[in-house]
Amino acid sequence: MSSAPLSDVERAELRALMSTERARLVAQSTALRETFDELVAAADLEPPDDEHDPDGTTAYERAQVTSMREAFEREVASIDAALAAIDAGTYGRCAVCDRPIGFERLAAVLGTGLCITCAAGR
Ligand SMILES: [Zn+2]
Repeated sequence: MSSAPLSDVERAELRALMSTERARLVAQSTALRETFDELVAAADLEPPDDEHDPDGTTAYERAQVTSMREAFEREVASIDAALAAIDAGTYGRCAVCDRPIGFERLAAVLGTGLCITCAAGR
């Protein structure tokens, strides 16, 4: 058994999966930023006293968009950390019990740092 928890082929496959997922997340985050800008622009155009709800709804929508965008950006950060760990050869071990995490789980739950046993115990 080698010291690396993943084979070269498995690492390459995970890296490809993560790049695809990362691009998707960045696109989502960018789209949300545009949505946010549109909300701001729309609020600037509308007089505050027409039939639309006064600022409550707008503030709520902006907060929703911002928190969704932050969630995407956190996922991007966790994928970046996983990609760095792949490059360092440390990816694929559970952060809690240090056992190898199965390749199928790594491919299904991109960026996970926990084996299925430890994840279930949370
Ligand atoms: Zn574990």
